Amino acid sequence: MTLLSLRETVRQYGLLASKALGQNFLLDQNITDKIIRLSLKQQNKASFSGCHVAEIGPGPGGLTRSILAAKPSSLTVVEADVRCIAIMEELKAQTEDVVLNIINGDALDFDFSKEILPPRQLISNLPYNISVSLLIGWLHQIAAFEAMTLMFQREVAMRINAPVCCKDYGRLSVIAQLTCNIDKLMELPPECFTPAPKIHSTVLLFRPKAELPSKDVLTNIEKITTFSFGQRRKMLRQSLKSCPRVLEQCENMNIPLTARAEELSPQDYLMLAQAL
Ligand code: SAM
Repeated sequence: MTLLSLRETVRQYGLLASKALGQNFLLDQNITDKIIRLSLKQQNKASFSGCHVAEIGPGPGGLTRSILAAKPSSLTVVEADVRCIAIMEELKAQTEDVVLNIINGDALDFDFSKEILPPRQLISNLPYNISVSLLIGWLHQIAAFEAMTLMFQREVAMRINAPVCCKDYGRLSVIAQLTCNIDKLMELPPECFTPAPKIHSTVLLFRPKAELPSKDVLTNIEKITTFSFGQRRKMLRQSLKSCPRVLEQCENMNIPLTARAEELSPQDYLMLAQAL
């Protein structure tokens, strides 16, 4: 028995894309192979041998097939749509040398440290409607991962990677850049997907920084950036009015209270949070 093409799989299983589940499928194996190839190359790896990979939202399984071809020690797929679980079961029946674990559940509730052995790689063409919530949750436990290869809508990827003073720079940039080294792997136009979305997409590779902020410091950074970027056009004196200790610390660090949130670097936010 050989695998059906991805398009034939989608047709046979009647997998009409659900907007609510953020389903835009990658049905071109050349593209999914390229995502995996670029991720491995950036990590100086020839394969995923020795790694335990988790894929969020395998859908009809294009990216899943490319991950399996890179020979991880195990692959765990977490998928909310029960229709895709049947497709995964068929793929499992034809997979010989990789352990394929199939979980029908919500990725927002999935505990990677508990369910998957290290070293862990996380890979996903993310459901865009929950991509930021998922990413923030994973950044809080980034030490659990060796790397994360994730596809976002281009605007979100720009926010993640934005430099100081840029209009896209915000909370997400600060938290992502303080916890990870981030590489852009590729951009994909809408026509690569079925159905084609209205937006472009970007694949990013996240690898944890050697030195990570502690849990408490990260929580403080979230609090400070919520206030400062919550009123991003206002001066710190105003936006951080309800956090007098942070304002005091700004003065100690020679950060003018007339500055705006976007003028402080991730490192500035780290030092403010460490001082609390
Ligand atoms: N990986 C497939 C591909 O590249 O063709 C599908 C990607 S599609 C953009 C997102 C996938 O995530 C869908 O299969 C969808 O059903 C699944 N999904 C959506 N919300 C989810 C959730 N909360 N937990 C797990 N999977 C979810």
